[in-house]
Amino acid sequence: MSLFPDATLPEIEEAMRAAEEAFQQYQHTTPAQRRDFLQVVADLLEAAGDDLLQVAMRETHLPEARLRAERGRTAFQLRQYGQAAASGLHLDLRIDTANADRIPQKPDLRKMMVPLGPVVVFGASNFPFAYSTAGGDTASALAVGCPVVVKAHPAHPATSQAVAELVLKAAGLTRMPDGVFQHLHGVDNRVGEALVTHPLTRAVGFTGSYRGGKALFDLAACRDTPIPVFAEMGSVNPIFALPGRMKAHAAELAVQYVASLTLGVGQFCTNPGIVVAIANDSMECWAEKLQTELENIPSGNMLHEGIARQYHEGVQAMMAQAGVARLAAGQNPAGEQQGQAMMARVSAASFLANPALMHEVFGPFALLVVCTDVHEMMAVANQFGGQLTCTIWALEEELERHSSLLHLLAGKCGRLLFNGVPTGVEVCDAMQHGGPFPATTDNRFSSVGADALRRFTRPLCFQNFPEPLLPLPLRNNNAEGWLRLINGKPSYDSL
Ligand code: NAP
Repeated sequence: MSLFPDATLPEIEEAMRAAEEAFQQYQHTTPAQRRDFLQVVADLLEAAGDDLLQVAMRETHLPEARLRAERGRTAFQLRQYGQAAASGLHLDLRIDTANADRIPQKPDLRKMMVPLGPVVVFGASNFPFAYSTAGGDTASALAVGCPVVVKAHPAHPATSQAVAELVLKAAGLTRMPDGVFQHLHGVDNRVGEALVTHPLTRAVGFTGSYRGGKALFDLAACRDTPIPVFAEMGSVNPIFALPGRMKAHAAELAVQYVASLTLGVGQFCTNPGIVVAIANDSMECWAEKLQTELENIPSGNMLHEGIARQYHEGVQAMMAQAGVARLAAGQNPAGEQQGQAMMARVSAASFLANPALMHEVFGPFALLVVCTDVHEMMAVANQFGGQLTCTIWALEEELERHSSLLHLLAGKCGRLLFNGVPTGVEVCDAMQHGGPFPATTDNRFSSVGADALRRFTRPLCFQNFPEPLLPLPLRNNNAEGWLRLINGKPSYDSL
């Protein structure tokens, strides 16, 4: 029998009931109380020391340094989201006072964001800490007052279990209601399906494949009461290389690109899987440098067997497409679990004729799409669906001259980069991690940065309420000094 058996239907029922019961109390905790809870989770996570890293290393094949950094990022996220909640910014407080002299009379209206209710979070395989059990989705939901039920990713159940125990301990230490956080295992898809379709589930957070995210989104949409599914799915994060920048920095760009493509064996959602360039000597110079750089990259173990298998199949399928030729490859793999870095090239004409070439191959695989001129580059850009990021390599004056490319790409992604590479997602207020479908299922929101909290709230307006019965943030006395829009003007004052 498995050490981590799948949750049964009665266990799922019990978990959702407990989450709903917890919600009745948890939604009324103050943002400061929730900040303290998340702070203790972060402290315990850091105090768990190397033992936890060893468990994660065994399960994910990720190196210790990466896991250590990811755990640090997860603790930072928990603290930052807790502080964001305490700042009250996500509450979007608005007060429009009554006007009895107006005809008709204007009522007193006060609006704030309130928590949705129990949230189901699917752990992501490629971020065993930062987007799993106590990761960004969990931290966002807990920060705004939603209980969380985590479905552990089956590729790292022991890591997930160990982190879950820390969250439960933190909940006990900070006296959060029972059921505020629960953790279930599920190798069988039916566990996830039962959680998404459970009537008490109010929202879902997911990071993973298009197939998985879209399946869960469709299930949620077909419920008697549909609920939002915030799924972050595939993205090829195209880079558009204009000739001026290529000419001035070909070698530097090649080095930077190879490092980004092969980071973490390419298993990042912001991995830059397609470069679109214009055929000329600078591009060939870039490709030559890229070849020598890539040749030195060792193959690395991928996260789990399924991801490695899908990578090999994906690369094979790409290489079999018409007009696709191998450009460069990393060192040979030592076994089936390893992913060998690989880049192929294809003409823009072949690319435009074959939509299969736009599919993400999750791992260190990339395609160089060679255009005859900027017009063809525009046609290629136009072909892309929604992306998490788009990058333009250009000189400043080139960017000005090609503003139509810039505007086209702005409509395709959530984060637009001028030079640089898209890997490395800063956790901060101005970050946007989410793009038009199919990159995510709802591009109005971000899953990284304090704006991630907004996904799990909804607006509630109070009309003509007796002042003492209003929630604290909407009362006349602004005891916490929160920012509020009062009769159209931003204010930190009391009324
Ligand atoms: P996944 O297959 O999408 O699985 C993610 C989670 O969702 C797992 O817990 C999985 O459970 C569950 N799930 C998937 N399909 C489901 C369904 N139809 N019903 C209920 N639950 C479902 O992702 P993965 O295992 O991490 O990796 C597989 C592929 O996903 C990769 O090769 C890659 O293409 C993509 N991926 C993308 C990202 C990204 O950042 N966008 C990150 C990681 C992976 P089960 O495992 O039990 O099915």
